[in-house]
Amino acid sequence: GLCVSQDFDFFYFVQQWPGSYCDTSKSCCYPTSGKPAADFGIHGLWPNYNDGTYPSNCDPNSPFNPREISDLTSSMRKNWPTLACPSGSGVDFWTHEWEKHGTCSESNLDQHGYFQAGLNLKQQLNLLQALTSAGIQPNGQSYSLSSIKDAIKEATGYTPWIECNTDTSGNSQLYQVYLCVDTSGSNLIECPVFPKGRKCGSEIEFPSF
Ligand code: 5GP
Ligand code: 5GP
Ligand code: 5GP
Repeated sequence: GLCVSQDFDFFYFVQQWPGSYCDTSKSCCYPTSGKPAADFGIHGLWPNYNDGTYPSNCDPNSPFNPREISDLTSSMRKNWPTLACPSGSGVDFWTHEWEKHGTCSESNLDQHGYFQAGLNLKQQLNLLQALTSAGIQPNGQSYSLSSIKDAIKEATGYTPWIECNTDTSGNSQLYQVYLCVDTSGSNLIECPVFPKGRKCGSEIEFPSF
């Protein structure tokens, strides 16, 4: 029979809280299109193996081509904004995500399918709504790590992994939320393995943006 080699086992779908990206000693720069909405933004959709390792930069012959996603650009600016300095349109960020991660799932998703999958997942998940409806608001207060995880599990049905960073006073804050997705890029699954990302305190700040 036909044997198709398994290129990867699942995706991490990673969203970033802009308030936490900006509230560090490195600070941030708003994109050239203006300050993004106070909402989670997409960081990436990352192919991963069940043993915790991951492939990267899989196809040097498949450079990012903005013309392939021209119909998605306005949605990308809104939902996948760049906050790195210096200010940019997002093209550098999307190029990096496609070339480092997206080229490793090319057997399943072409460039348009890859970015469309990320946008669909964000819309389907509505993380901010999951948190605010549990009383967890981006207002600079601290919340227990377990209450944050429970609220996301309650709304999505799946256990997330939370990555924290620290503000200039050394407080642990909610930086990124990881959820796992099957190799089609469309269905959430329980994570086969959690990332080794930065630690969180048991109480973490949710800064405003
Ligand atoms: P950091 O060192 O900031 O945690 O991660 C740097 C970059 O390495 C991430 O933005 C991502 O591109 C990649 N990366 C880190 N951890 C993982 C992981 O567990 N899986 C995958 N696929 N990529 C990762
Ligand atoms: P990673 O390898 O961590 O997936 O990709 C992060 C790379 O994208 C870094 O080179 C970072 O400077 C760039 N980048 C551009 N905009 C953003 C942003 O808004 N958030 C993050 N985390 N990285 C960004
Ligand atoms: P447990 O598996 O008992 O919930 O947690 C074991 C350890 O992992 C504890 O130190 C806990 O704080 C940490 N931990 C649990 N969930 C997360 C998470 O989503 N993100 C981070 N960074 N640490 C976590």
